[in-house]
Formats: sequence, C-alpha cells, structure tokens
Amino acid sequence: MPSKEFRVASELEKTEVIETARKIVKEGLGPICDNCIGRQFAKISSGVSNAKRGQILKEALRTKWDLGEEIELQGKCWVCNGLFENLDEWVLKALEALEEYEFDSFLVGTKVSGMLLENEELIWEIAGASYAEPLKAELNREIGKRIERETGKTVDFERPDLVVLLDLWTEKVELQVNSVFIYGRYRKFERGIPQTRWLCRECRGRGCEKCNYTGKMYQESVEELISGSILAEFKGEYMVLHGCGREDIDARMLGSGRPFVGEIKERRRRKVDLRMLEDKVKEENAGKLEVTGLQYVKREMVAQIKNAKADKTYRVGVGIKPNVPEKDLENALDKLTGAVIEQRTPTRVLHRRADMVRRRKVHSAKLISFDESVFFMEIRCDGGLYIKELVSGDGGRTKPNLSELLGTEVEAEVKELDVMDVCYI
Ligand SMILES: [Zn+2]
Ligand SMILES: [Zn+2]
Repeated sequence: MPSKEFRVASELEKTEVIETARKIVKEGLGPICDNCIGRQFAKISSGVSNAKRGQILKEALRTKWDLGEEIELQGKCWVCNGLFENLDEWVLKALEALEEYEFDSFLVGTKVSGMLLENEELIWEIAGASYAEPLKAELNREIGKRIERETGKTVDFERPDLVVLLDLWTEKVELQVNSVFIYGRYRKFERGIPQTRWLCRECRGRGCEKCNYTGKMYQESVEELISGSILAEFKGEYMVLHGCGREDIDARMLGSGRPFVGEIKERRRRKVDLRMLEDKVKEENAGKLEVTGLQYVKREMVAQIKNAKADKTYRVGVGIKPNVPEKDLENALDKLTGAVIEQRTPTRVLHRRADMVRRRKVHSAKLISFDESVFFMEIRCDGGLYIKELVSGDGGRTKPNLSELLGTEVEAEVKELDVMDVCYI
C-alpha cells in the first residue's frame, strides 16, 4: 500500500470519524455511494478523492464494525440520487453544448435542485457538516476534471472564457459565455449617424408608424455599422459599443478617431484576425466609417474608456450675423483661449440632463479660415464642454461665449462641427 493511502486510512479510521460514518450508514435513508459518504469527511485528509475516502471508510466499517449488510445495500444513492454514477452523462451534455465554442479556459457551476439540497441538509443533520464539502463543489470539480481531460482546456477560477452551468432542476447544461472585448478608434466621415442604437421615442423600440416600424430614431449607428461587419466573424449574438464620450449626431469624427471598446456578446469564436476586420469595416462602410488600431483587451478597459476625461479638439464652422471684421474675430478667439467657461446645462439637452453649472477650460481657439459671414476655427478644450452653446451663448446660459465677445448685436451659430481628436489614452 502506498504511504499516502496508508496515511489517509489512518486519519479516517480514528474512532470519532468511524463513529460518524457508522451513524450515516445506520441512520441514512437508503444506500449511499462512495462519493457521498466520502464527501462528508473531505476536510479530514487531503490529496484523495471523495470516492476514495468513501471506499476506505466503507471497507473499515465492513471489516471492523460488522456493517456488511447495510453497506452492501443495492440501488441509487439516497443523497445524490445516483448523480455521481452518471457523471459521464453530464460530461457528454457539456461537451455537446461546448462543441461550437472557441475557448481556452472554463469553469463549471451547478444549480442544485431542491431535492438534493434537502438530502444534503438531512445528511448534515445526521453527521454534522464540520468536515463536509458541499455536493455542488464536488460535482463542479469532478465534471471540470473530465472536461479538461476530454478537451485539453483548463479550468480557470478567476477569468474563464466561459462557464458551464449544470442545471440539476432541468437536467440541462447552459453556457455563460464571457464577452470578447476589442479596443480601437473609429472615424465617422458622414453626418447624421448616432454613435449607438437610438430607440424610437414613441414606441421605445417596439415599432410604430412614426419610426416606420423599425423601432429606431435613426436607421444606422456607428455601433450597428461596426457590428454589422464584425459580428458574423465572431459568430456572436450582438455587439455593444462603449465609446470614450460621444460626438453629436451631426458631427463627424475625424482626426485620429474616437476610442471605443466593442463588447461582443455570446460569441462562438474569439480569435479573429483583427487586421482583416479593419479592412472589412472599411470596405463595407466606404466613405462612412473606419476603425483602426483594433486590439484585444480585458473587460476593465470599458471602465477606463468611460472614465477617461481628456481634452478634445474640434473643427467648427461658424456662421455670423451681421458680418464682423477678421481682426475682431481674432481678438474674440484670443479672449477665449485660456478662459474657464461657466456653462449651465444647454436648453437642448435639459430634457435628459440635470440643470447644473459646469466649468470647463478652453485651451486654445484658432482661426483656420475666414470668409466674412462664415469662418472655421479649431478649438481644444476640456471634455464635456458644449461647443454649440460656447458659440451661441444659449441665451446667456454659457459665459463667456463667442457671440457676446463679438459684440452685443452679433449672433454666432455653429454650422458644422467635426471632432478631430479625443481621449488621449
Ligand atoms: Zn451519492
Ligand atoms: Zn416607433
């Protein structure tokens, strides 16, 4: 006999343990399998399976305690209802469910049925639970080991690619597939496209006359355009776009693009050539949209992107009435440079944002081109400053503002807005 087994045997054959085991056999509601009796003493000796513990205990009870008859009882174990004799059945179900998924690591979880929970309570009433391991834990481990053997993939408690959920109520295996996260930057060359799906205000997505039964305010979005090109490659169900802020619908996103993380849910594939995806997005959305610098990232990147508060650079086309001389314009932009703007929530977003005053700094405001009634400027400022109101003044809610700096009679209005650079992360 190898020394480990000898050690385990001597640990298990202490009188106190054997007494408890005897109680379980005598007071139990029927036959009990090796796993279920062994599991009640899981904390006593390490390095062996519960099944092995069970065998050793039963052998001791048979030879030293004269419990032959009770131990030989045939039939399904009353505690697990035969579960541990049918592990292969569950392994097969799991392998079948896993078949179409790409993964390197996994974890097994169990939803225990009420009947088994009750049985577990009963056996703990008889034996006490101080040395026991829960049934669920043993099942997860044993199925996990077998799936490892069959697939060559590994169990990972921290960050599994997917979770195999054994549902003992329904006797089905469900998969919880962890999303794939892709970081990149998008550039949007066309106006009128929102960043994400925008549900119809009337019907909240159900579809109505107003939205032509699409359920949406806009037919396309950056989210849907990117998703349309890459989702099929991952064989995913849907993609959520987490943007580092968002530009207005009628603003283009140019320059180096806006950082985003695409979260691909319920994907079957998880390793797709990202350069190929960049090409595909470009080809399928020619003139509208482009993504660059795609890379696989961890979930944490979503929070990082959401919290990034960085400067933004805009290219702004402004209309002015009446005309002003170029010199006045340059003076006004000089005054804006370095100014801290006090901005009350703009009237146009008041219906969905709280009314408050925010302070944002303009780092620079430069004239790019001038044509009497229209000019273009480049403005770099803190994230979160509303540019349209910085120009118009929003009835005095934004101070200082460009209109005011140009003179009391002057009205300035944003005609075109492009985001050039954003979120330097
Ligand atoms: Zn059992
Ligand atoms: Zn609608």
